[in-house]
Order: sequence, then C-alpha cells, then structure tokens
Amino acid sequence: MVEIFIKQCSYAYEVQALVKSFYPHQYIYKKDPELFGHTLLDAATEDVVQIKIELEEAQIGISLLQNEIPILEKRSAVSKDKTYKNQLKILLYQIASKHTGRHLDWGTLTGVRPTKVFMSIMENVHTFDEVKAIMKSNYLCSDEKIELGYQIAKKEMDLLEQIDYKKGYSIYIGIPFCPTTCLYCSFTSFSAKKYANYIDDYLDALFKEIDYAKDCITDKKLTTIYIGGGTPTALNEEQLERLLIKVTQTFDFSDIKEFTVEAGRPDSITFEKLCLLKAYGVDRISINPQTMKEETLVRIGRSHTVSQVKEAFLLARKAGHENINMDLIAGLPGETLQEMKETLEEIKVLNPDSITVHSLVTKRAARLNWEDDIEIPQNVDEMTDLARHFAATNDYVPYYMYRQKNAQGSGTGANQENIGYARPAKYGIYNIIIMEEKHTILALGAGATSKFVFEDENRMERVENVKSLVDYIGRVDEMIERKAAFLRKEGLHEQ
Ligand code: SF4
Repeated sequence: MVEIFIKQCSYAYEVQALVKSFYPHQYIYKKDPELFGHTLLDAATEDVVQIKIELEEAQIGISLLQNEIPILEKRSAVSKDKTYKNQLKILLYQIASKHTGRHLDWGTLTGVRPTKVFMSIMENVHTFDEVKAIMKSNYLCSDEKIELGYQIAKKEMDLLEQIDYKKGYSIYIGIPFCPTTCLYCSFTSFSAKKYANYIDDYLDALFKEIDYAKDCITDKKLTTIYIGGGTPTALNEEQLERLLIKVTQTFDFSDIKEFTVEAGRPDSITFEKLCLLKAYGVDRISINPQTMKEETLVRIGRSHTVSQVKEAFLLARKAGHENINMDLIAGLPGETLQEMKETLEEIKVLNPDSITVHSLVTKRAARLNWEDDIEIPQNVDEMTDLARHFAATNDYVPYYMYRQKNAQGSGTGANQENIGYARPAKYGIYNIIIMEEKHTILALGAGATSKFVFEDENRMERVENVKSLVDYIGRVDEMIERKAAFLRKEGLHEQ
C-alpha cells in the first residue's frame, strides 16, 4: 500500500498517477498531511510506503518512509511559474525511482496523450535533437519513446494540416449493441439479442439527435463521420440501412474526408451489410479479431471464431472495401509471445490496410480485473515490440498513439501505449482528431461524449449523454438540450 500525503492541490491527480506507475499493483491512497503517520492498516502485516509532499512557494520537499521509517528525502529550490508542476514531478520521479529501482520509459508523462506534449514543443522547436533535449530534461523520457513520440507527432501534424482541421468538425455516432460482451469491455454496450426490442426505439431517438446535429455547428465544415459503439453491424440489415440513409441524407458530405464504420465483431458481419456500407459511401471499416487464437477468443468472451474473422475480411474485400483496419490486443489472458507471433502471421496473410495494437487494459467497468484468477502475461512489452517490428517490416507506419491507464506492461514499459499503424493513404484521420483533441467532435447516442474544442483559447469542454439505453431513449430531448444549452452559454447558438 502506498499513502501519498499532499494538500488538496491541482497537481494531486497527476502525482497519484505517477506514483501508481512506480507501484502498479499497490493500493494508492491520497491523505491529508495532518493525518501523517496514522495509517488505517496494520503496518506489521503489510508494507506501507508513505510519500509526504510539501509544496511551498520556492521549495518542494518530498520524503519517503517505509513502515514509518524514513528512507529517502529530497528538497529542492523551485521557481513558482508554469514549470512548477514539472519540477514537482521530476523530484517525485527521482525519489520513487530510487526506492523502486525502476525507470519509466515515458518518464514523468502520465497523461493518455503524450503526442500532445510533443506537438506543443514542436510548434516552437523544429529539429529532432532540440525536441529530444527538451523531452529528456523536462520529462525524463527514454530515447526510444522520444523517437516514437516524435515520429508519430510529426505524422499527425502532417495529416492534420492536409485536412485543414481548424475549419472542420467531426461527428461520432454510437451504436451501443454487441453480439456478446467481451470480458475486458469498458464501453457502453448492450447485448443485441437481449435488447433486440429496444433497437428500433434507440434508432428513432438517435435520429432525433442526428436531426439536431445537422444545423448545430454552422461555421465549420463536416470533416469526418465515425459510427462506432458497441458494434454498428450488430444492427440487422434493415436497421443498418435505415441508419445509413439517415446519416447520408442529413449531413452535407461535400467536404467529408473520411466516413468510418466500425464493423468490429466478425460475428455481426454479413456480405449484405458490407455491401450496404460500401453503397452508402463508407470508406473505412474495422474488422477486429483482437487475437487469432481460438482458445483466447473463448476465454475473453468473444463469440466468434478465427475462421469467421477470415471470412468477414474476405467478404469485405469482395464487397469492395479498400481500407480495412484490424484491432489486436497484446497481453490477453493466457497468451504468450508465441501466440502473438502466430496472430501476426495470420494477419499478414489477410493483409489489412491498417492495424491497431492495444495493450490489455482493465478498467473498473470491465468484468476482468487484477483480482480475477486469470493469468495475465507479464511480457506485454515484448509483445508490443513484436507488433512494432511486424508493422515496420510490412510497410505499416505508426500514425497515432495513446496510452491508457492500467495498461499492462512489465519492467520499464509499464503503462504501455496503443499504436495505430497504417499503410500510406490509409490512415484513420478520425483517430488522430479524437486523440489530439484538435477540433470539435459532436457525439450522438447513448454514452457518447461531445468534445467542443476552442483551439485559440487552448480549451476543450465536454458535454455527455446518459449511458443507459432506456434513459437515452426516454430522455433524448434532454440530451439535445444539453448541447443546445452549452452552445447558448458559449454564445455559439441562437436558439
Ligand atoms: S466488441 Fe467492443 S464494445 Fe462490444 S463488447 Fe466487445 S469490447 Fe465491448
């Protein structure tokens, strides 16, 4: 157990995240400095690490105690300016690194979007060596991660420039139904079978929100549309066509650069659905195996087989889809490096246009978590390295990246990143937009969160929809009003 004693301050969350990176399997508590020395648990039965942080105008002091015995202490003069938080994190990193003997590849960076940091540096500094020097001294990143972050940030900047992102906005449409629930799922997802009677009502409610969205943002051009979920192809053919008609007849497609539908689960895909997607102009789809190992698919609660993945992929090509992504997960329960290797060999035969490699993440909402008696691979770093090598030798370029909290990863690579790799001209632009928060995304459907970006003010505001299916259907007018009220408050809506 690790206790952090810190006064309520705006850095407390990041301090906690950094400590968690050093002590990944421990319970981390934030406590009031006044309570210092009074732990709730019996120190005789469990190791208790206490980290005491004192923040003053011109000085930061950090002391580390183990079972109430002082072990390490560091005090440093600091300047109270915008670098104050960085100085605190560097000091904390040094103490925790010394105590654990560990180094973190991403250094003090704890956020899910490291490329954002690269991009902000690259606005003023241009050569790789200059960026590297800043990432090393300010964030203590490893050479390998600096190279990766720089390469991806550069690619993202190039791609964003090409779509004139500042003058655009995007639409996300959520279809929260899936054939079954995957063991690791933390998304808004309902069984398409169990909730079959709700699907048409859901679409009716969603269409109301789509109608509202049509004239919601008038000063920008619609750049990308992404239909995700859930699994949009969990809709039957008739429902899917209703949705595609609604979307294509409502929005102005004249400036659209990308129209994606996440077909996702192979067990929801039919040739007819693939042809519908093609006929209504969808130009990027995803067919996600996660693994090409049958036993793992059963273990993680996906009801499809490996041959269904292959069949769905070949049907998609037959239907004319020329931009197909496949999602993989490194670190699935029970898998070894060998399974990852075999999965990549199978993927190579299919030859998708892009692959996205995730590290297994166990979020609170998922049925799978640390406490479950399931063997989680400890060499996820090696698996993702294998995927990176596979991508490089098969002409896939890394083009977007994000990190997730609680991603597995052993040794120095804990808190692994998820990386999208694509062949040239097959990049998923929406992925970059959502990860870098570069322009407004109007999100429609249950559990969808709109992100309104005010780039000039370096500000982003969220407006959330309810997650519950029944609530969404019954309260869709309220969801519309939430967005309208926000836009009125910002002076962006006349109604
Ligand atoms: S396909 Fe995706 S959204 Fe559906 S249950 Fe699996 S992880 Fe969740």
